Amino acid sequence: MVKAIVGANWGDEGKGKITDMLAKDADIIIRFQGGANAGHTIVNNYGKFALHTLPSGVFYSHTTSIIGNGVALNIPLLVKEIASIVERGVPKPKILVSDRAQIVMPYHILFDQLEEERLAGKSFGSTKSGIAPFYSDKFAKKTVLAGELLYPDALEEHLKALMQWKNLTLTGVYGAEAYTMETIMEWKDRCCERLKPFLCDTDILLSDAQAAGKSIMFEAQLGALRDLDLGIYPYTTSSNTLAAYAPIGSGCPAARIDDVVGVVKAYSTCVGEGPFVSEMFGEAADKLRAAGAEYGAKTGRPRRVGAFDTVATRYGVQMQQATEIALTKLDVLSYLDKIPVCTGYSVEGRETHRFPFPAALDSAKPVTEYLPGWQCDISGARKWEDLPKAAQDYVSFIENAIGCPIKYISVGAERDSIIFR
Ligand code: GDP
Repeated sequence: MVKAIVGANWGDEGKGKITDMLAKDADIIIRFQGGANAGHTIVNNYGKFALHTLPSGVFYSHTTSIIGNGVALNIPLLVKEIASIVERGVPKPKILVSDRAQIVMPYHILFDQLEEERLAGKSFGSTKSGIAPFYSDKFAKKTVLAGELLYPDALEEHLKALMQWKNLTLTGVYGAEAYTMETIMEWKDRCCERLKPFLCDTDILLSDAQAAGKSIMFEAQLGALRDLDLGIYPYTTSSNTLAAYAPIGSGCPAARIDDVVGVVKAYSTCVGEGPFVSEMFGEAADKLRAAGAEYGAKTGRPRRVGAFDTVATRYGVQMQQATEIALTKLDVLSYLDKIPVCTGYSVEGRETHRFPFPAALDSAKPVTEYLPGWQCDISGARKWEDLPKAAQDYVSFIENAIGCPIKYISVGAERDSIIFR
């Protein structure tokens, strides 16, 4: 059985919680793209965790967690993250890193900062984790594979060539100080050496696991609308967040995904810049942000919030080819007497239900309908019948609008705050 847990919105849908919950039945969980620029928040019997690189299934003793080749590997952060979960009592997590994962270098982070400074007011809202410079270098074939750490002489030569090239831009374009080989080698010795015990040829491991009928789970970072190719470019991330990329970014291109769980939030949130059609402002936004504790797991930035957007979500669900939906944070809407839902866009005076080309999004205005609220605490609900009629109607309305069955309804951050439908 191969499953993918992916976001159908702008990210922060609650994929961490859903992965942590579904990982109970998985043997192997793999992160296949993205880096430490976003966080998955998980609340379980060990406490509350914000994971940035580790798969959210790392808390079970029966699972193997893999950082796949598609991930932007920030080694010092990964090492710190592993230490932090072990310190808090997670028993001997089994973690492997693909030898083909590529390394985020300290200068990638520096380049991110320098470029955001250069862009000043026109920045894209980068988390300055080096992700865009890293993926640019990956496609230019100028990064280092984690497995190169096992070939120190060749690695030193490779780094020399890379540093020569990088320093031209660092000094010539940005007027910054050049990196010396000593600095890079010292960084390698200090942080990267600790990665060696985790390195693994994950391709072989995964093909063996598939042949043995093991249960494999892919976990995405961010959501469909942030996909580099099919999202709201250029306000996307620099990697592919879609389930279709999971087999490649995990090192098992032949894998056929049986189930794609699209994680969808019961309202909308969006971090950073870019078009966000159903955005709410003022007091209504402040109330929703406070109710949903919508502040970035990585940066603490207040997230932009808005009404559930049926147009964007249906597009996200289609791009993900979701076979079932996990609807999260339904409990957050309990305070509202009527709930706004964006049911269409008005673009140049014409109503549309198709998600427009990115450049047309700026002029799109939301068409809003209001559904009755339920105004009572639903966080204790564990069965569909426990939900008030208005909450059931809200879920059914969304399901109908996005065209995919809602199988899980999450009503709280904890692992067991879930309704199976
Ligand atoms: P992810 O990156 O997709 O995993 O999402 P984030 O971790 O950025 O944001 C989800 C946040 O909502 C986390 O703080 C979760 O603990 C929390 N959360 C997840 N599901 C629910 C839910 O159903 N209700 C509430 N109230 N919080 C939830």
